[in-house]
Formats: sequence, C-alpha cells, structure tokens
Amino acid sequence: MADLKIEHLEFAVTVDADRRVLKDAAVVIEAGLITQVDKTDALVGIGAERVIDGRRMVAIPGMLNGHLHISYAHAVRGIFPDDVENRLAQVFVMQTAMTAEEEYVTTLLGLTEMLMSGTTSLVDPGTTRFPEAVMAAYEAAGCRVMIGEHVTDLPNPVHLPVYDTAEAIGRMEASVASLHGRLDGRMTCWTMPFSLPTCSAELLIAAKAIADTSDTIMTLHHGGAMGITDPTPTRTLADLGVLGPNVVLSHCMGLADEEIRIIADTGASVVMCPSTVVKSGGGIASHGRLPELLEAGVPVALGTDSVNSSNFIDLVRAMHLVATVYKDARGDTSLIQPETALELATSTGAMALGHRGTLGAIEVGRRADLVLFDATRPHWRALTDPVRNLVYGATGDSVDTVIVDGHVKVEGGRPTYVDDLWSLIEEVERAGVRIRSATGIDHPSAWPPS
Ligand SMILES: [Zn+2]
Repeated sequence: MADLKIEHLEFAVTVDADRRVLKDAAVVIEAGLITQVDKTDALVGIGAERVIDGRRMVAIPGMLNGHLHISYAHAVRGIFPDDVENRLAQVFVMQTAMTAEEEYVTTLLGLTEMLMSGTTSLVDPGTTRFPEAVMAAYEAAGCRVMIGEHVTDLPNPVHLPVYDTAEAIGRMEASVASLHGRLDGRMTCWTMPFSLPTCSAELLIAAKAIADTSDTIMTLHHGGAMGITDPTPTRTLADLGVLGPNVVLSHCMGLADEEIRIIADTGASVVMCPSTVVKSGGGIASHGRLPELLEAGVPVALGTDSVNSSNFIDLVRAMHLVATVYKDARGDTSLIQPETALELATSTGAMALGHRGTLGAIEVGRRADLVLFDATRPHWRALTDPVRNLVYGATGDSVDTVIVDGHVKVEGGRPTYVDDLWSLIEEVERAGVRIRSATGIDHPSAWPPS
C-alpha cells in the first residue's frame, strides 16, 4: 500500500531525463519519494492510503525559486513608486525594524502565497533575521528552504549591517551549524556574503571555505560590468578562488563573455530574476545573458526577488517573461522556448541550487514535490500542448494541488495548514502599518485613495 497516488492526470509533464509528457498519467508516492510514474492503466494494481483524482489536471514538478526575500516585504508590498530612489536602503531599514513575531507572520504568508502558486522550494537569500522564530512557519508550510544570513564587512550605501570580518565569519559558521539539515533535511543553510563590493577578500574566502567543509553552498548577489572594468568582477572572484560547483551567483546582469566562460569553467551556477530586472529598467534582454549562459552549459535557476522588487513571486509569470523578452528585444523567436523556461523553474533550477537528481522532475527516485494545475479554467483551453499553455496562457493562480515530500500542502487552491488565511493577512497588514510608522518610510500613491 503506497501513501499517495494521483491517477488519471490529463497530462503529467515530467521534465524527466527523456522529457516525457504522459497522457492519462499516474504517480505513486511512498515515504516522500516518487516510486512510480506511468499511464494510469499500467498502475491499476497499486493501492494507496489516499488517491487523488487528477482528471482535467496538468502535473508538473514542484518549482524552485532561486531568489526570494521572503521574510519582510509582504507587510509593505507595493509601497514603492517605480522610480523611487535608494529603494534598497529603505528596504533594509524596514527589514531591520521588523520584530521576530512580525517576521513569523510575514514569512508564513509569503510561503503560503509561494506554495499556492506552485513553488515548493526557495532560496531566501539572507533576509531572515530570526530563523528560530520563523521555523514554525517553515515547518507548517512544509516547503524546502535554502536559508542563510547575509553578511558584509565593508561600508555599503544600502544600510546593510557591517560586521568585523571575524564576527561575520562567526555568524556564518553559527548559522550553518544551527540550521543546516533541519526540518528533516528540507532546510539547508548556505553561506551568504552579500556581494563582492560589500565583502572583503578574507570574508569571501572564508565563506567559500565554510561551504566546502560543511558540504553546503555559498551564494552572493553578483553583477558583471559589461566588461568595462579590468579585471571583471567575475575574474576577481575566480582569482580569489571562491568560484566552484557549490557557488550560486544571483542576478548576474551585465556579464561579459569572459565572465560567462569563467562561470562555466568553474562549474558555478546562476540565478536570474527577470521580473525584478524589467521593473527596474535593468535591460534584461541586453544585460541579462541568459541564452549565452545556457549555451555555455551553466545551470540557471529562476528567481523572483521580493514582493517589493518585482512585486510578485509567481514563477509561472517569471517563466512567461523569460520566454518572451529575449525574443522581443533580440528579434529572434528561437530564444528561450517554453520548454526551456519550464526547465529553469524545475530540473535545471534544481541542478543550479544543489538538488541535482533529487528535485525538479516527476521521476522515480526523486522527492515527491508536485504541482497540479486546474485545467478546467478557460485560460487552459483548448489543451493540446500543456507546456505552451502553462507558460503563455496560465498563471500560478490556477494551481489546485501542491504536494511537498509526499504531503498535500495546497488543496483546491487553499493551504491545508492555515486555518484562517484572512486572519493571517490581517496580522501581516497590521505589521506593515507598524513598520511604516516606526521607520517613517512611506510613499504617497500616484492616485491617493480618499
Ligand atoms: Zn537579493
């Protein structure tokens, strides 16, 4: 008797090694693992404690968000005009003003929004200040999280706390020691020096060394300079010896050709946040070298940044962006096909984020993270090609069921672990009112409501 079986799926887009798309498919789950994937007919003999009827549903692997500052922004979403100056500095002031209790409720709501749109794993790139306080939110949501504390030891214009180098190193060691492997292995803790300009060489080298000895990953915010500096920022990292297969470079706008080669040669990975870039006028199609990175064999994951950067965390919308902006700006319809966009959010993203072979595909032996879309919605029809319909026609709003590690966390489009979602939202809004008043950070609407 298996734990869970989903049968009669209209389509299962497996993103497995053969990129199989199965019609009338079934998936069997035992002890958090996928144990069978086949046609429903072929698996009739297998019973399960619970059977989900997948008729008129499209299944994909649980998606991975490679860059999602989850813990603060939901309380103050949408307060910034697009052309605000020093947004990042204001972000860090608000983030620093948040209490542990506030961080717990904003995190729980953020994770819930994330799961409800089909994302089952996230990298929180150093935002969470009170990991122990929010652990219950991660526990309840049941998702996978790659967490860490971002540290700097050089003065910076964005109001990030600056530590002595030794203290910064100590903080990373302590966070990895206390968090790595928690939540039955669903939580991993990475080292997170914030960026090259805000960290000394000593700090970056130490962060990489901790990642090496603790069998974890180092990530940092990174950008090239379109080749105008010599050496390039990526060359500087390589010369320090801090690039490698356990390094994830986030954003990576403005990479010169040489930098792409260095990243490929060292085996490092990249996360790109298309929605943040387009909203901030960052020139994604010219400065975002996604087609070239993929051509060079670099594993790339998609991220959405925070709800005060892009301001959404729906990876289906992020897939749509990467599958369209490059075609438009470069006048080339062969760039980033919808299948590639889905790979970035699933199998390739899993590779980029240290989950090669364990996440990102509906395949026997992988962890049982699955998303079922309700394909009765008009925007899913007519349905002949589920990948094209997903990337170009749908949003994460049509997610019906989300399974993480074999556990159903969203059902009928609602979280199974939050009794009263509206009360949670009200609590988060109250936190936002307090943070805005405590920090004095507020921006009038272009059309002030009266
Ligand atoms: Zn970030």
